Amino acid sequence: MTNYHIDWQGVRDEATAILQNYIRINTTNPPGNEMEAARYLQGILHKEDIETVLYEPASNRANLMAVIAGQTREKPFILLNHMDVVPVEQDKWDLDPFGGIIKDGYLYGRGAIDMKAKGVAELMAMLLVKRYKLPLKRDVIFLATADEEVGGKLGVKWMLGKKPHLREAGCVLNEGGCILVKANGDLDHYEVATAQKVVAQFTLTARGRSGHGSMPHPDSATVKLIRALNRLVAWEPPITIIPLVKEYFARLAQVRPAQETQGYEDIEAALHDPSVARELTANAQYNAMIRNTVTPTMLKAGQKINVIPSAAQAAFDCRLLPGTSGDAFFTHLKDVIGDPEIELTPLPEFESTPIPPSPVDNELYTAIARVAERKDPGSVVTPFLITGATDSRFFREIGVPCYDFSPFRLHQEDHQLVHGHNERISLENLGFASEFIFDLVREVAAG
Ligand SMILES: [Zn+2]
Repeated sequence: MTNYHIDWQGVRDEATAILQNYIRINTTNPPGNEMEAARYLQGILHKEDIETVLYEPASNRANLMAVIAGQTREKPFILLNHMDVVPVEQDKWDLDPFGGIIKDGYLYGRGAIDMKAKGVAELMAMLLVKRYKLPLKRDVIFLATADEEVGGKLGVKWMLGKKPHLREAGCVLNEGGCILVKANGDLDHYEVATAQKVVAQFTLTARGRSGHGSMPHPDSATVKLIRALNRLVAWEPPITIIPLVKEYFARLAQVRPAQETQGYEDIEAALHDPSVARELTANAQYNAMIRNTVTPTMLKAGQKINVIPSAAQAAFDCRLLPGTSGDAFFTHLKDVIGDPEIELTPLPEFESTPIPPSPVDNELYTAIARVAERKDPGSVVTPFLITGATDSRFFREIGVPCYDFSPFRLHQEDHQLVHGHNERISLENLGFASEFIFDLVREVAAG
């Protein structure tokens, strides 16, 4: 490979200045207001003579697409990032969340990890491709979107409807996984999410006869709802190990101490032992990776303490493993409740089609593993299942392979800053990610 003699310290300084300004543009969603941020990024790309198109899916909302064209018709490589951020509780922050302040080697601000720094690292890769005239065999597309934090309907989903070219992508790099570091600073492993669980939210409604609280009767909505909830809460969804989760545990066994990873080499076999199953499911994250989950989150009934209400309702946030059919799961829940009078109503977020994981033999996944090996010889790369949701689902559902990976070295505590107070990214991580993503573009798209 050509050695480009890039001044990486200079790249890091440039990325830092860009990220400071980017964080200062408040894109809290709701309402989003991504237009100003999109114009800012567009200005940087224009100075470099990179072609961009700005879309306005709704007033003051924006999606920005920049393309560096490749010489063949090979399917495009997309660098995906979202511009919006979640709200802050300003009084809980030690530094202004929209100040772009640097302290002790860290840049603080809402969106530092999720995901403005990653967006800037992707932007830097675009600038470097252009500056060093990297010959490309395929289009490299920088796609900065709106609305991810509120469901992505105006962002990725909207863009896929608008630009058929995006639907033909060969691979997409998005957010989600990272490089996990142990408490002592040593490398733990590289985590690349290849799938996520599917959202299946619904309400349960019981109806009955209203009346005075002093005279209870059997046709009570609240009593019927409580009985149904009892049955649902007592039900344990069966454990199902999908292949990528099996591989995840097997790879963890290679990096973690043996006493922590008993049976991880073949987790499916180990789970036949009830004590292993008990221990694994006690970990909320692992539990969510090995079964469908049924979580009651909202309860609603009654207006006054002495009135029996005529309706009572509970809302459930269910997350299904890739491959589970939402409709089949829903039918099964009705059997568990066993009361035809209880109404089950899927909410708009109910996704009934199963979305399969992206394959680990894809060129982008293997490129991540190769670059990881160069940066950290002997490191272990694991596929990963995200239990929440990212925009990747829109690409995966139309069959475009998508990999959720931000090349940031993060401690467990750094991870918890995502959506939390005092979110921050180290300048070292910002520089490292810029270099890593440029390397990925060279691996996947250089002609
Ligand atoms: Zn995000």
